[in-house]
Amino acid sequence: MQILHDEIVLAKKPWSGVIKAGDTLVITDLEGQQAVDFLCYDAHNPADRYSATNTVKVQGNVYVGLNSVLYSDSGTALMTVVEDTIGRHDTVYGCCSNPNNLLRYGVETSESCYSNFAGALAEHGLGEDAIVANVNWFMSVPILADGSAGVAQSELKPNSHVSLRAERDVLAVLSNCPQMHNPCNGFNPSPIKVTVLRA
Ligand SMILES: [Zn+2]
Repeated sequence: MQILHDEIVLAKKPWSGVIKAGDTLVITDLEGQQAVDFLCYDAHNPADRYSATNTVKVQGNVYVGLNSVLYSDSGTALMTVVEDTIGRHDTVYGCCSNPNNLLRYGVETSESCYSNFAGALAEHGLGEDAIVANVNWFMSVPILADGSAGVAQSELKPNSHVSLRAERDVLAVLSNCPQMHNPCNGFNPSPIKVTVLRA
């Protein structure tokens, strides 16, 4: 494996990059208990983007994990999970935003995954309308039989990682979640590592 890129993403910060077809993006939760909000797009046609509903329906499960394929709106396979040390990751809770922090927690915040997504997407000429329901790697959202759901504190597992193989050239955009008002980051946002590998 050739290492094309290896970068620490500081706590609360975004990252984005184009992953070429066949290359693998590895996201490592260095300290553990760190949610990473994630979106991906067809790099050559960003209007065709990750679809949570297509992904959930095709695999018949609301969580993603090993062997899950992330599908686009058009049903195109964008990325496949080829390695996963956690087991399941959230697809339904979306990203934190300043308005949502006010609604849920009654707090005025200035940092959020929505803001991070907006900033990272702008670097690729994309607007806020490109932000859709995202994957939350390393985030635990148990869904109970009555449909109730909520963010749970995950087990502390430093160096957890997911590896995502690009099935075509994709733009990957992520937010190292700055949330401090629920347990998704163990109330301690921490750095992650992003690595791009070529076989
Ligand atoms: Zn967040």
